[in-house]
Amino acid sequence: MKVLVVEDERDLGRLLKEFLEREGFVVETAADGEEGLYMATSGPFDVIVLDILLPKLNGWQVLEGIRSSGSKIPVLMLTALDGIEDKVKGFYLGADDYLSKPFDIRELVVRIQSLLRRSQPVGTPSSILKVGDLALDMSLKTVIRGNERIALRKKEYQILEYLMLNSGRVVPKSELEEHLWNEDDELWSDVIRSHIKNLRKKIDGGHKKKLIKTVRGMGYEISDR
Ligand code: CA
Repeated sequence: MKVLVVEDERDLGRLLKEFLEREGFVVETAADGEEGLYMATSGPFDVIVLDILLPKLNGWQVLEGIRSSGSKIPVLMLTALDGIEDKVKGFYLGADDYLSKPFDIRELVVRIQSLLRRSQPVGTPSSILKVGDLALDMSLKTVIRGNERIALRKKEYQILEYLMLNSGRVVPKSELEEHLWNEDDELWSDVIRSHIKNLRKKIDGGHKKKLIKTVRGMGYEISDR
């Protein structure tokens, strides 16, 4: 899952990037509103963390720009302002959530996860994603199939989480690349295929029902159909 952090305070921006990356997100940052709006409307992001007081364009203007481009990407606004009017304005302009500074960074992670899960069917419990007898806990970063806990490497986990958040849909390889790697990451040609191969061994190995499917020429899908 790729997060765009638009924040002009360098230290906070760096801290957020570090922390979110440790939590398994791929993170890019923008240091002013103009850059933020450009990246938000041109890049493959899954969620945007947007400060309000920014140089060049403020957070409101960035949010307006994002929404008027037709993008429905979840946006979480960060601000030092705590007035109810600001919250109302934020929601009116199409913000999905709101967090006042100073905030607990773990709270930010929980909010981001809940925004990402909005596309999940209603009634699925808090941080759990399920496909058949496979369950992934986005908070604990644990994966269980049946009664068996499965240990995954970081990138394998990220791929599985992305496929599960998009379960029932074929995800092209290029989409995995865009959402799970940074633009400046070295990406050797067969890296995704090799991760999928390992995932398949760990998730589907020994099970009659195979959950991870390759749709030839199109991409990968996880489903229990
Ligand atoms: Ca600021």
